[in-house]
Amino acid sequence: MAKHIVDGHRMRKRFGQNFLSDPNIISQITFAIRPKEGQHIVEIGPGQGAITEDMVASGATVTAIELDRDLIPWLKVKFERNANFSILNQDALKTDYAEIAAGKQVRVVGNLPYNISTPIIFHLLEQAEHIEDMHFMLQKEVVDRMAAGPGDNNYGRLSVMTQYGCEVDGLFVVPPESFNPPPKVDSAIVRLRPRKEKLALDSHEYFEHIVREAFSQRRKTLKNTLKKIIKPLGQPDLGVDLSLRPENLSVEDYVNISNTLYRLSK
Ligand code: SAM
Repeated sequence: MAKHIVDGHRMRKRFGQNFLSDPNIISQITFAIRPKEGQHIVEIGPGQGAITEDMVASGATVTAIELDRDLIPWLKVKFERNANFSILNQDALKTDYAEIAAGKQVRVVGNLPYNISTPIIFHLLEQAEHIEDMHFMLQKEVVDRMAAGPGDNNYGRLSVMTQYGCEVDGLFVVPPESFNPPPKVDSAIVRLRPRKEKLALDSHEYFEHIVREAFSQRRKTLKNTLKKIIKPLGQPDLGVDLSLRPENLSVEDYVNISNTLYRLSK
């Protein structure tokens, strides 16, 4: 649905288009990323180039991925005279980041479309061995959930799955008035650094299943939520107190539970 018109471009709500317009925030983001010549930056959703400009000026190689084809000619005119810039008109959810990395490591940045930010991050985590780090603008509430530790109200499935794959740092909050049009919620910048040495998992799929089940009813004890899985396996000792609620277990606890149950289920 085209709603606003900026620089002749019809802004599309379905593409999550809230363009950054506050130069101070843009500088803070660049400062947090510190792009350098010799690095390869992949920017998801350059939009009208708010973040792109500093990335290109740093001398780093910049590959931008933009789904809205109406923005492509404009981005080409603005940036393509720089030999270090290229743009792909495609969906970041379907992008093969290993192919873009071409045997090296990339740094991923983006003010993500909020409606699909979590699927984009999960898609990237599947290809994390090609990624040095990621800096994203997300809804603040999503950053709070990603960064939360055990015992925190915000600690949940997103925290466990993100922290299993990455070190997570919530950096700073960005208010709605820093965008055009302003989103309805506060935003925040997060830095994700894929772990080079992850806790060993027998099955990633099974781990996802256990974490999803555990948090399916946050108010209940693990004994209750995992009953369906544990009972047929003979009530094994999982090395954790099952009278706890899911928010009280660490990522390592979930890895151990998942490995034990997976082995017994084979
Ligand atoms: N980076 C710009 C800024 O900060 O002003 C734009 C950010 S805007 C929140 C999100 C951008 O992602 C838009 O340009 C939108 O067209 C683009 N986008 C939406 N869905 C996308 C997808 N699946 N793949 C790539 N880009 C997408």
